[in-house]
Order: sequence, then structure tokens, then C-alpha cells
Amino acid sequence: MSIYTGPVFEMARKQFVVIADHLEIPEDERDRLLYPKRAVTVSVPVHRDDGTTAVYQGYRVQHHLTMGPTKGGTRFSANLDIGEVAALAIWMSWKCALVGLPYGGAKGGVTVDPPSLSLRELEGLSRRYMQEMIPFVGPHTDVMAPDMGTNEQVMAWFMDTYSAYLGHTVTEIVTGKPVAAGGTVGRREATGRGVVHLAMRAAELLQINPSGARAIVQGFGNVGAVAAAELAARGVKIVGVSDHTACLYDARGLPMEALQKHVAARKVLAGFSAEAAFDPGALLAQPCEFLVPAALERVIDADMAKRLNCRILAEGANGPTTPEADLVLDGRRDEIFLIPDILCNAGGVVVSYFEWVQDLQQLFWEEAEVNQRLRQILDRAFNAMMARVGREHISHRTAAMAAGVEKVFAAKKIRGLFP
Ligand code: NAD
Repeated sequence: MSIYTGPVFEMARKQFVVIADHLEIPEDERDRLLYPKRAVTVSVPVHRDDGTTAVYQGYRVQHHLTMGPTKGGTRFSANLDIGEVAALAIWMSWKCALVGLPYGGAKGGVTVDPPSLSLRELEGLSRRYMQEMIPFVGPHTDVMAPDMGTNEQVMAWFMDTYSAYLGHTVTEIVTGKPVAAGGTVGRREATGRGVVHLAMRAAELLQINPSGARAIVQGFGNVGAVAAAELAARGVKIVGVSDHTACLYDARGLPMEALQKHVAARKVLAGFSAEAAFDPGALLAQPCEFLVPAALERVIDADMAKRLNCRILAEGANGPTTPEADLVLDGRRDEIFLIPDILCNAGGVVVSYFEWVQDLQQLFWEEAEVNQRLRQILDRAFNAMMARVGREHISHRTAAMAAGVEKVFAAKKIRGLFP
């Protein structure tokens, strides 16, 4: 099992041990639950624009096939390794089980810095990666989706490459596609929308009025930018935002419309305002009611957890909080209300599931139906987590993860060793 190494995998493993202990899962059943069923690595050669050929390393990890096909995003990122991909696949499993989707978790990606590629090179990389994956994926085996560094366009190239191989259009092979290529309305916004819906549920419990409350959002991509816009639409003042190019803070609130226009034109926050430039290392510790990490893993370590000055921590990113930070947050339960990642960002996979269902049926829904069903599923999982917290006196993360792990464990026990 030693191919899965690195700090992100170690984090997923430590979290699992906490849950397995809480659920009293026998020692000899634990490896079967934790370690992925299958991992594939491929070489992805690309002709560069300068005439040279470069080879990138690609991965796909399928955690378990016990409850249906596997499902999970594809990440293009400069530091990606198989341990990180495996951790993300494992988290997807607990997430899908928690919200009641008929999937196991998967994740994949390529170790590449996307901004280093031209559009033509990105298309070449995307198509070749999918081509290498054809023997291992399928609408009833493993269904891909976007993640960091990939987007609707990449999903359209994946779908087109798979369809060209089969000789007919197979929209249900990936989710997160553009609506024009068989995607669903509401998918692009789903993760950020879900984050904010749950943040509002927490605010209601804590009797925080969103109007005039403050928010800080780390990451201004698919999840962060939508979350910031949805918060602003509810009257929340966005006092801080950051991406990999800039960090901005203004206690009076940042002008969201101007910021969105800037990012639509330039793709990044850099160049927006020299006046509001801020230290990225200090952003998360600034006072606010809503803190939304929506970029990288492990940005909240034990030290940062002590410094947090928010009332609600809504984890848009996967794995932003280390197990050591969780111990600190456990001691600050009365001060900081945690919405753990596997629940908080589940809106994306929920609407991906809706997309897959619509593609399989070739019957498409209105956006109002997508959003209403999304809220219903998230509410059910949120209520179940809060009920468990009350019953078992455990942290929000332990409650959410326990709900996911125990469902997978039960299914594996019933089915036997195969899946
Ligand atoms: P994205 O590529 O669209 O955006 C990522 C953002 O993070 C970019 O704005 C980037 O500049 C920023 N970023 C990178 N390094 C940073 C740094 N050091 N400091 C501050 N910002 C930094 O990716 P995304 O789809 O928005 O995903 C973000 C997170 O949300 C990831 O953890 C991903 O796994 C998780 N997630 C995404 C979805 C989805 O539907 N896209 C669903 C569930 C979870």
C-alpha cells in the first residue's frame, strides 16, 4: 500500500482512523475501507507550440465500486501526486455516501501547471489524458468532472474524445460539461451555491443576520467566485478575497461588481487594486462572520486554527483543515461553527449527479428544479449531521464523516470482497 504517500494522503488516513475508532470498525476491516480499489498512472505526451514534445504524468484513482460507478473530479495542478489524488478520491467516497448518491469516490488529474500551456496545448493534453483513460472509465464505471485547473471546456473535450472513440455521443461519460454539450443548468454554480446555502443554515442557527455581516473568501475560481457572489447577493460584505496572483482586503467591503468584471476580463485578481493589497498569510485570520477557504488543501494548520477570527468556517475547498487544526477547532467549538468540506462543497457532486441522471434519460430539467432538489439534499445531510452532533457529542467533521463511512462499510459488508 506504500504508493500512497505524502501529506494529503496522510491527512485522509488520519481522519479515517478517528472515524473508524469512533464507529468501532474492526482493525481487519479498515484497510479494505480506506485503500483504493484501483489506481492508474499514464504518460500524456503533448506536442508543444515550439515544436518540442513534452510528457506529463496523469493519474486516476477509483476508491470503491460498492455502491455504483465511481465519481470524481480531474485536477490539473503543478504539484499533483498520486497520494493527493487518492486522498481526494477517498473524501469523494465519504461525501457521496453522506449525501446519499449512488457512487463511490474517484479523482484524477495531471501534474501540469495549466497557465504554462496555450489553449491548443491544453486541448491536446486533455484529449490525450481522456484517451489513455478510456479502458478504465465509462458511464457505469467511472464518471469524471472538473476540479482545480479544469473547467467546462476541458469536460467538453473529454466527452468528445470518448464519444469519437465509441462512434456516437456519450454525454453521460463526464459531468460539468457546458449546457450546449449536454450539461445541466446550474452545475457551474452548484458548489459555490451549496457552500452559501449551508453557510446560511449555520447563520440561521447562530442568529447571524447576513446583511452587513463580513466574509473572507480564499480562492476566486469556480467555487470561490460563485460563493463570493452568492454571499454578496445576500447582503454580506466581502472584506477579503485572494487567488494565486493577489490578496485583497478592505474592512469597508470590496466592490464585488468591479471585481467580477476585472476577473472576467483578466482571469485573475492581479492588477485590480494596489491599495487593497494584503498579506496572504494573514488574510484567513482577519475578523469576519463567514470564512470560505476555496483554494488549496492544508491552509488551516494548528497555528492558523488558533488565529482564526471567524464565526462560521465554510470549507469550500477539499481538505483545507489539517487533523492537528481539527483538534484546535474542537476546543473552539463554541466560537467557530465548522461546515466540513465533505458536506460544504457537496453541491458540486450533487448537481453532477443530476447531470448524469438527465444525460442517461435524455430528459432535461429547469434550473429551478435543479436548485430546489440541491437544497433539499443538502438540508437533509446538514440536519442529519446536526442531529448526530447532538446525540453523540462529536465534532461536525466527525459526524459528517461517520455518516459517510458507515454507509460504505455497511454496503461492503453486505456485498463481500469484490467491489
Ligand atoms: P479553480 O481552479 O476554478 O480555482 C482555484 C482558485 O484557487 C483560483 O482562483 C486560484 O488562483 C486559487 N489559488 C490557487 N493557489 C492559491 C493560493 N496559494 N492562495 C489563494 N488562492 C489560490 O478550482 P475550483 O474548482 O474552484 O476548486 C477549488 C477547491 O474547491 C478545490 O479544493 C476543489 O477540490 C474544491 N471543489 C471544487 C468543486 C467544483 O465543483 N469545482 C467541487 C467540490 C470541491
